[in-house]
Amino acid sequence: MRILVTGGAGFIGSHYVRTLLAGGYPGYEDTRVTVLDKLTYAGHLSNLPTEDPRLDFVRGDICDLPLLLDVLPGHDAVVHFAAESHVDRSIEAAADFVRTNVGGTQSVLEACLRTGVERVVHVSTDEVYGSIAEGSWTETWPLEPNTLYASSKAGSDLVARSYVHTHGLNLSITRCSNNYGPHQHPEKLIPLFITNLLAGESVPLYGDGRNIREWLHVDDHCRAIHTVLTRGRAGEIYNVGGGNEQTNLQITGRLLELCGADESMIRWVADRKGHDLRYSIDESKIREELGYEPRISFEEGLRDTVAWYRDNPGWWKSIKHQQAEA
Ligand code: NAD
Repeated sequence: MRILVTGGAGFIGSHYVRTLLAGGYPGYEDTRVTVLDKLTYAGHLSNLPTEDPRLDFVRGDICDLPLLLDVLPGHDAVVHFAAESHVDRSIEAAADFVRTNVGGTQSVLEACLRTGVERVVHVSTDEVYGSIAEGSWTETWPLEPNTLYASSKAGSDLVARSYVHTHGLNLSITRCSNNYGPHQHPEKLIPLFITNLLAGESVPLYGDGRNIREWLHVDDHCRAIHTVLTRGRAGEIYNVGGGNEQTNLQITGRLLELCGADESMIRWVADRKGHDLRYSIDESKIREELGYEPRISFEEGLRDTVAWYRDNPGWWKSIKHQQAEA
């Protein structure tokens, strides 16, 4: 089997590629992988086992249809991760989000259609549903995105839906809650707070810290994506969650403990514009239909994640340095 992974040099895509090439998905040990990635500020070749002969890397933009038409022939499946992914950046740079997330997804799916790719997974997010005060979203919940990141992802989901209904593309969509784990860019809450604390710096906590997110370890998310790729039904959406709801203040408290710091390291900052209050996923469909369930508890996953950042300062220090220079 040969799989093309867009955005495979980023946080989640690279975890998927490393796991796949390391034989982490039984029955797919011989899979060959092509990563197509623009290497924006969020993509890093060092996230990938570039020495593996089963991995090909192509630097390119998912909006570049001629490039996709050139690269895609010979691939059996596409897992589409590439996106602009940081809500804070979408406040100031909405055009980049619409271009890559909506326009880029359309190019990827058009190229899949024209080159006869047999199976596609479009990796989306629970943020397309908006914010929910009580209860949890099922896959049939209306799309009510509040941020420019979320609306551009919702747009990409609608484009994907239309490629299924108009052209019969064999595609499924996953919508996952917040991920954490190794190799996550230190602009996101958990790695930002860990790396600041490891460097002896304070952590900027938005608003009153009461925003609730549901957290899932990246390894569980990737296993869910692979399950959907191999056994999901065409045209279906699968929510992926962890059932682990935490306020940002609770997470901060746990990270302070794990990093040996105290509350004096919290720096309260003005709330994010349009900050969604609560996300909560009903994932019974993927559990009941595909037998998927998460394996890594939040406590264990968070401890391992802190240990990874502690053991790999070279990785995050160079990224923080590049960010400071930009
Ligand atoms: P990331 O920002 O770490 O990685 C994105 C990757 O896409 C980078 O390697 C970047 O270089 C690449 N990329 C960006 N624009 C591109 C373009 N125009 N052409 C080619 N490559 C491009 O993101 P992530 O956290 O790994 O998220 C991956 C996917 O998962 C995204 O679609 C995101 O919406 C979705 N998702 C993320 C989370 C989360 O908590 N991080 C949760 C649910 C869903």
